[in-house]
Amino acid sequence: MSIQQPVISSNGDLRSTWAEVDVTRLERNLAAIRARVAPAGVMLVVKANAYGHGLKEVACRIGPQADYLGVAVLEEGIYLREAGVRTPILALGGIWGDQIPAYLEHDLTLTAPSVERLEQIDQAAAATGRKARVHLKIDTGMERIGVHYYNAGSLLEAALGCSHIIVEGIFSHFANADSADLSHARLQLERFEEVLRFYEKRSLPLPMRHMANSGAILQLPEANFDLVRPGILFYGVYPSAEAARTVRVEPALAWKSRVVYFKVVQPGHPVSYGSTWQSDAPVRVVTVPVGYGDGYFRRMSNQAQVIIGGCKYPQVGRICMDQVMVNIGSASAFNGDEVVLVGEAASGERITVEDLAGWAGTVPYEILTNINTRVPRIYLPE
Ligand SMILES: *Cc1c(COP(=O)(O)O)cnc(C)c1O
Repeated sequence: MSIQQPVISSNGDLRSTWAEVDVTRLERNLAAIRARVAPAGVMLVVKANAYGHGLKEVACRIGPQADYLGVAVLEEGIYLREAGVRTPILALGGIWGDQIPAYLEHDLTLTAPSVERLEQIDQAAAATGRKARVHLKIDTGMERIGVHYYNAGSLLEAALGCSHIIVEGIFSHFANADSADLSHARLQLERFEEVLRFYEKRSLPLPMRHMANSGAILQLPEANFDLVRPGILFYGVYPSAEAARTVRVEPALAWKSRVVYFKVVQPGHPVSYGSTWQSDAPVRVVTVPVGYGDGYFRRMSNQAQVIIGGCKYPQVGRICMDQVMVNIGSASAFNGDEVVLVGEAASGERITVEDLAGWAGTVPYEILTNINTRVPRIYLPE
């Protein structure tokens, strides 16, 4: 059993709330994505603690099967290098201040989103006597980072003149590839293709081109190029309800806890802070040691459901920082009984991150990335 750092307990068996990550499912999801996009390669996006699945463990276990790893920020890249990960790593986000030498020192690929930053990278690389591996970032309609497609020529031109930079890649990012309406995504794709003609016109070899996130992998095979960048799909979750499900994946994460207290609650005795819920008959209520301090959002109060003994029951009263109450009606439950917060019970009942996202008024991405590091991750098979 291995546990993602940092955790409070070094022994997962002592914790009554944990997340199980099924590594075999991650491998199968990667294989399913590869089959869909071949001959394009795959950059697995492992930012934000690998979407809550554990950055180091996911990168160490699956990284060797990927062509590239994508992180958001420098620190995530350094953390992976220090953990011994040898797979190429691209930091997808912006760069500030004096970060460039640290990228070079840890053999991380840099995103160059502007001419100014590109020149800084070139100078920093010259000062250290090495070459920087860079991917040029083109903004085709996300308006986040990257040179605008209509000014991209200046960045591509400038890159040709940088002697300490290897332009290994060029990429863009979709704003709407998971929608049913793909017109904006198609417009972005056309803009990116237009930028790429720069190389053709000068008879220059193309850098590695990449644009597709999970939504585009599912819906826009024209955008596969040389590499795709799946995040949420790799973890077995679809990016939206409307995106076509052209690749079959299965959720790799289950979130579980145990019953730690049982009582009978009488009518007229409201449950939890704010007294937002009470029963009109005596009911059995159990307490489960998970709360918003673990990432079980308070917004889900009086809406969430959990599975105990193979059946779904409603969570009642406000969700606390470390505990929640569940109304099991007239059923029985015992101290230590397993509680499924996300995942599938042996009975076939299941609760998905989409369910939690619905109760919390958010997207599955936010549910997964908010499962706190206080929750130990257990990797299966052991
Ligand atoms: C997060 C991210 C991805 C992955 O997005 P998913 O929707 O999870 O597939 C890909 N590319 C970039 C630049 C990102 O920031």
